[in-house]
Amino acid sequence: MSPGGTTTDAEPVRMQATRLLDRFAAVARPGPWKAPMVHHHVGGRHGFRLVVGVCVHGDEVGPLPAAVELVEELRAGTEDYGGILTIFVGNPAAVQAGRRLMDSDLNRVFLPSPPDDREGRRALALQPILAQADLFLDLHQTGTPTAEAFYTLPWRELDGAWARALAGARLWMTRPWGQVFSTGTCCADEYVRALGPPALTLELSEKGLRPETEAEASRVLRRLLRLAEDHASGRRDIHQAAREQPELEFMHEVLREPFGDPRRALRPGLSNLASVRAGDLLSPPGAIEVRSPIDGLLVFPKYPSRDSHGRARSPVPAEIFRIATPLPDHPRTLWGEGGLAADLAEGGAAEPANGAEAARAP
Ligand SMILES: [Zn+2]
Repeated sequence: MSPGGTTTDAEPVRMQATRLLDRFAAVARPGPWKAPMVHHHVGGRHGFRLVVGVCVHGDEVGPLPAAVELVEELRAGTEDYGGILTIFVGNPAAVQAGRRLMDSDLNRVFLPSPPDDREGRRALALQPILAQADLFLDLHQTGTPTAEAFYTLPWRELDGAWARALAGARLWMTRPWGQVFSTGTCCADEYVRALGPPALTLELSEKGLRPETEAEASRVLRRLLRLAEDHASGRRDIHQAAREQPELEFMHEVLREPFGDPRRALRPGLSNLASVRAGDLLSPPGAIEVRSPIDGLLVFPKYPSRDSHGRARSPVPAEIFRIATPLPDHPRTLWGEGGLAADLAEGGAAEPANGAEAARAP
């Protein structure tokens, strides 16, 4: 039954992913939505609207089997959710191509006027789905091996309750409310949070199909349904459910190293959340030197595809890596409740760190 399976060969992954897309397409019913590769489930018992995204990046196919199985079970009646659940495959064209993206990064273009390309059009088609969410969960994978799963989103009490209750990861890469993930862009989760509701981005594992990622994604999705069911029915609200789980461990990014010269490269094998020391050489021998300016944990080391001259192909990522360190205190102590309440308490939008502009959706 399980379509997963560990493989490092690109072609079989693409073939498996394409079969999974076919299964999704065969069983998905988009309900009121115009977008393809969307399933809309109406449980009829309450109105709490969950939205789940997978494969917003086309090569992050790890959670796809779990999404397919969930939709199949909802259709068969062997799984249930009393509220409204919309699940989408973010970038099916890129999944089919075995690529992260086709024209632009889908998870940067949830903008009022996205680029007129494949991802821009997909973002416009998905925005009405995101705009009605009461909670959005976006399942991602990292480009390199990662020491463990982690959440990445700004601090807000409500999002924190869902993240902790869901127990999708032990680590939370966090930042103050209003600080964007990447300046001048808008991720799917940022789009939702800017409208008010909580939204979680969970990085499950290194990209690719793996039985353990499939199992973890499945566990997280089933748990999400139960939490939302309890929360909506008043049996157990999300704050209570959160208190029943261990507190998360908070990390924050303290440095973003600009990519700069497209010839700059990291040596192979650097994994996400790897410890680095100030001055550590991160580039391959003989290449332009790239060093870690400070001690910390490496976050999102970038290995873009390269042309025959060794130059990173366009679009070159904004940063070549980021560095995170443990947050010095609980974010509630540092930043208060977060969200709109924090903005209002300070008499306007909170001033984000690093000169990043505040996230604002249309
Ligand atoms: Zn991703």
